[in-house]
Amino acid sequence: MAKHVYTFGAGKAEGKADMKNLLGGKGANLAEMNLIGVPVPPGFTITTEVCTMYNEEGQEKTFNRIKPEVEAAVALVEELTGTTFGDKDNPCLLSVRSGARASMPGMMDTVLNLGMNDDAVEGIAKKSGNPRFAWDSYRRFVQMYGDVVMDMKPASKEEHDPFEEIIDELKEEKGIQLDTDFTTEDLKELVRRFKAAVKKVTGKDFPTDPWEQLWGSVAAVFNSWENPRAIFYRRMEQIPDEWGTAVNVQAMVFGNMGESSGTGVAFTRDAGTGEDVFNGEYLINAQGEDVVAGIRTPQEITLSGSRKWAELQGVSEEERASKYPSLEEAMPEIYKQLEETQQKLEDHYKDMQDLEFTIQEGKLWLLQTRNGKRTGAAMVKIAVDLLEQGVIDDKTALKRIDANKLDELLHPVFEASAIKSANEIAKGLPASPGAATGQVVFFADEAAKYPVSILVRVETSPEDLEGMHIAKGILTARGGMTSHAAVVARGMGKCCVSGAGAVKINYKTRIMTIDGKEFQEGDWISLNGSTGKVYEGKITTKDPEMSGDFAKIMNLADKFSRMKVRTNADSPNDAKVARKFGAEGIGLCRTEHMFFEGDRIKAMREMILANNETERRKALEKLLPYQREDFEGILEAMAGFGVTIRLLDPPLHEFVPHEEANQKDMAKEMGISTEAVKALVEDLHEFNPMLGHRGCRLGNTYPEITEMQARAIIEAAVNLKQKGVDVLPEIMVPLIGTVKEYKMQADIIHATAKKVFEEKGSKVDYLVGTMIEVPRAALTADLVANEAEFFSFGTNDLTQMTFGYSRDDAGKFLPIYIEKGILKNDPFQVLDQEGVGQLVKMGVEKGRSVKSDLKVGICGEHGGEPSSVMFCDSVGMDYVSCSPYRVPIARVAAAQANIK
Ligand code: ADP
Ligand code: MG
Ligand code: MG
Repeated sequence: MAKHVYTFGAGKAEGKADMKNLLGGKGANLAEMNLIGVPVPPGFTITTEVCTMYNEEGQEKTFNRIKPEVEAAVALVEELTGTTFGDKDNPCLLSVRSGARASMPGMMDTVLNLGMNDDAVEGIAKKSGNPRFAWDSYRRFVQMYGDVVMDMKPASKEEHDPFEEIIDELKEEKGIQLDTDFTTEDLKELVRRFKAAVKKVTGKDFPTDPWEQLWGSVAAVFNSWENPRAIFYRRMEQIPDEWGTAVNVQAMVFGNMGESSGTGVAFTRDAGTGEDVFNGEYLINAQGEDVVAGIRTPQEITLSGSRKWAELQGVSEEERASKYPSLEEAMPEIYKQLEETQQKLEDHYKDMQDLEFTIQEGKLWLLQTRNGKRTGAAMVKIAVDLLEQGVIDDKTALKRIDANKLDELLHPVFEASAIKSANEIAKGLPASPGAATGQVVFFADEAAKYPVSILVRVETSPEDLEGMHIAKGILTARGGMTSHAAVVARGMGKCCVSGAGAVKINYKTRIMTIDGKEFQEGDWISLNGSTGKVYEGKITTKDPEMSGDFAKIMNLADKFSRMKVRTNADSPNDAKVARKFGAEGIGLCRTEHMFFEGDRIKAMREMILANNETERRKALEKLLPYQREDFEGILEAMAGFGVTIRLLDPPLHEFVPHEEANQKDMAKEMGISTEAVKALVEDLHEFNPMLGHRGCRLGNTYPEITEMQARAIIEAAVNLKQKGVDVLPEIMVPLIGTVKEYKMQADIIHATAKKVFEEKGSKVDYLVGTMIEVPRAALTADLVANEAEFFSFGTNDLTQMTFGYSRDDAGKFLPIYIEKGILKNDPFQVLDQEGVGQLVKMGVEKGRSVKSDLKVGICGEHGGEPSSVMFCDSVGMDYVSCSPYRVPIARVAAAQANIK
């Protein structure tokens, strides 16, 4: 019989860390912590398979099947804690927690203090001698259970949580500020009002039977797998829907038992910078989510962290020490244990850990550990530090790099000069580094209202996830370094300033006020997530510098990769940037981009207007020197490396104006009538230009274009060679479908090269090859390879033609396709290995079957997307080529592909 429930407690566990698929991340690590001697309250995990069963077979059948195992597991918890579930004198209280394979922060809701009812609360009060604590736990339970299991959470964003409203009401009535100021009688009153609210809203009585409470909570966890924000997160992180979540049921430990109790969150290293310093936040006399919820100001765990915090917040040392002492000062014994435990956990997992702990009357308990989410910068630094500290080897260090996340390090920071004159308006915590500038929005679902927005909230919640993803930066008025906003922003690599107390937000009027100054929705502000500073207005940003650790990772990447990484660059400047990022060659230089600047477009238009070959040649003559000059620049910037230059590719209509005013300008400039220009535009019109007169079809109908371009390339190469520059031009014919289309172009190029060599009395090495981007070319790649010296897979067009999706129109249906699960992701971003990939694979194999040393690469957008890069490695490509800023990402992905 399959096992559905795995128990843990008192140093034993049926599961372990590598059983994440079955037990979820939280459950597997709870088991593991038991096994390595870290104090964890006993409990059990209901497996992810049960979630799948629940979704397929329904609640009744599933629960009947697992009931005996759950009852036996509860009995074990009772035994280990010396309490009895449902007992009125000595009740066992439990938490019910979700936990998927991959951590999904805040996605699933936790119920604490389960088992509470009017009897149990008295039992707990008597047993603990602390009635206030008992009633505080009870009111929390009713609130959480009401919100999570009985669906009391408000549906609309303007409404408040009904329970929070009741709390605020009572605070008002009693004239108190903090939750901790409630007396026992107040808490009893809260429970009474809470239950009345439940009855009023749901029509049901609050359940008093602990078993009913337990099964209700388990069902709620399984149901939450299907809630919209969980689904959105899965889409964003590409977590399969089938995985399901586990349920963890665990004996409660109480951080709200008074001044010798508390709860907190900690990181073994700095999740923002990667620095090897233990850090975190805690609250005395608090439970569970109080720290992350931003209700009270959390205190720092370490003394040094606390001092830094005070400085940032402008709190004096005196005030800090008396009002916000660190755990290190407040509970030195516990701090010591926690310090040792964090080290033990990091040593065991060999990675930065994110921990949850609770202190119950002077005893420390760990409630969770996981590999901590971190910024791109921290990811790089931690990997390099762990490598240099001898904890992990170089392959592991490289595997720790999420190539996509490097993107964050390659993003802009504020321009130093612009920041000098910027007006600082507020300061919060540096929750997630980076710089952002944008227009203020106050609601997550309105983040797309402006092209670049900054989401400003009192605090964020999991419902805001999608908007946080869209916004350029996040500013919150409340919450610490471990608040929802901070944790999520770091995970997304998004700039975030949290807890900027001076920011007052009025959601109704959509105005934020800072020191009396009002900011409307749509006003520009700027955030520096590395310093916590908030500025008025728009601030120019600039590209970041590469750090030493970054370079170390890049060196490791080069050590382990087989494939080379080239770049797509159309100008000497792009080529230089890409060289800095480590590009070894150009995989795609688009010549058409060179036809737009200044006088060039005029000559280009003359060429298009030409009535016959003679006129066309005359116009091309004018273009030749421009092209030669451009090629010299690019070949020189990439000296020593191959440079693939693609012949003219787009349809000619792209070079003529389509607006009336511009057509008039063109007529004047060319000395012809506006009607003539209009007639020309009309003439160039195609029903489907992407499948029309473009690519080699241009060169085959107007061979003189190819001739000119070939001459410009070869002349540039010879000129440079004579100057002593090492050049290797690779001339690439676009859009071929038949070998004849290629051959005709190649013949022109070779003949032209021969002529140039004779004229100059000097030769250079060069290659002629082709793009494989029309499906027919891939299908007949062996025939093509008989003639061509290299292949470059143009996966943008190949995707377009294989799917039959127009790249320019797919925006209308692709998002819906992805949402409905018809497609896993956008095939223009992530190479479709199942379909398009088969053509690529076949193309490589067929090509190499006739020319074993055929050089093969890719030059579509996919060349900088990690999973696609891995695929390219698997089919044996020699290189990938991508935009300059993605070169480091591709280098890491190429190395990871080659580490077995
Ligand atoms: P999340 O995945 O949102 O972090 P968790 O299941 O980890 O949810 O729990 C939410 C909060 O409740 C955390 O602060 C956690 O430490 C606390 N908590 C969970 N179980 C217990 C327990 N048995 N005793 C005390 N606190 C608990
Ligand atoms: Mg450490
Ligand atoms: Mg947690």
